[in-house]
Amino acid sequence: MKQLTVISGKGGTGKTSITAALASLAKNAVFADCDVDAADLHLIFTPEIKQTMGFHGLKIAAIDKETCIDCKKCFESCAFDAITEDISLIKEACEGCGVCAYVCPVDAIRMIERDSGYAYISESRFGPLAHAALKTAEEASGKLVTVVRENAKKLAEEKKRDLIIIDGPPGIGCPVIASLTGVDLVLVVTEPTLSGIHDLERILDMAHHFGIPAFVCINKYDVNVDNTKKIERFCNEKSIVVVGKLPYDIVMTKAMINQKNIIEFSDGKLSHEIREMWDKIQEMIGKA
Ligand code: SF4
Ligand code: SF4
Repeated sequence: MKQLTVISGKGGTGKTSITAALASLAKNAVFADCDVDAADLHLIFTPEIKQTMGFHGLKIAAIDKETCIDCKKCFESCAFDAITEDISLIKEACEGCGVCAYVCPVDAIRMIERDSGYAYISESRFGPLAHAALKTAEEASGKLVTVVRENAKKLAEEKKRDLIIIDGPPGIGCPVIASLTGVDLVLVVTEPTLSGIHDLERILDMAHHFGIPAFVCINKYDVNVDNTKKIERFCNEKSIVVVGKLPYDIVMTKAMINQKNIIEFSDGKLSHEIREMWDKIQEMIGKA
């Protein structure tokens, strides 16, 4: 079983639209939406949820006021100002470090599980989908990414699928690392802006650090041809293959509004380019 992560240095590059388009072309795949902070692959997949699992991220302090002797040690020790002077917990501020429980002389504080979100296993017209939703202001999204990936792996084994396509989170933080660890290939979606070039360099460095072969798709390449050339030169110097150059086309947005991917929605130039890109990706998956 091979795993491909589609990633971008920041949000808004078209990563999810491209992942969704690949879903129409990949014939025996499981999909994983690992952009758990802002999951939106389901908007196109319109999946039917088959299983819902509670997700516990960081622990949270629970103060037993009956046992408390008001010594204020927890208030003085909390580095996150999550305990008020009258010894009440500010849930949103608690980072689950456990220091308050450690310093409490009468064991009035316990660290308990916190309901941070849900992981889902679903069926869709493209195949099985593992996805998740993190509750507002909850953290530990790297841990939730790992849960989604484990679910995708189990699904692939059960349903005898030979590829997992992962829609990764934007940026270069912990959730991105969790979505890259142990995959066979990375497709980096970028756009021809100065910040896009900078983000591309950072994400390629990260893939290189983990020893994962990476290749690049330049989305909306015709919006700034000079910057596109810069990206191509940069990739060429690093021996990184630019596997696709996709033109800007408003039809991509129209497809999303209609809850479809571009391949389903249009048979135009953009769809043609994505099909060609998929042929190249398949070749690379075969070699990985
Ligand atoms: S667990 Fe840590 S962050 Fe939360 S209230 Fe206790 S000391 Fe503060
Ligand atoms: S450390 Fe324990 S006893 Fe002291 S104020 Fe906090 S909860 Fe109460």
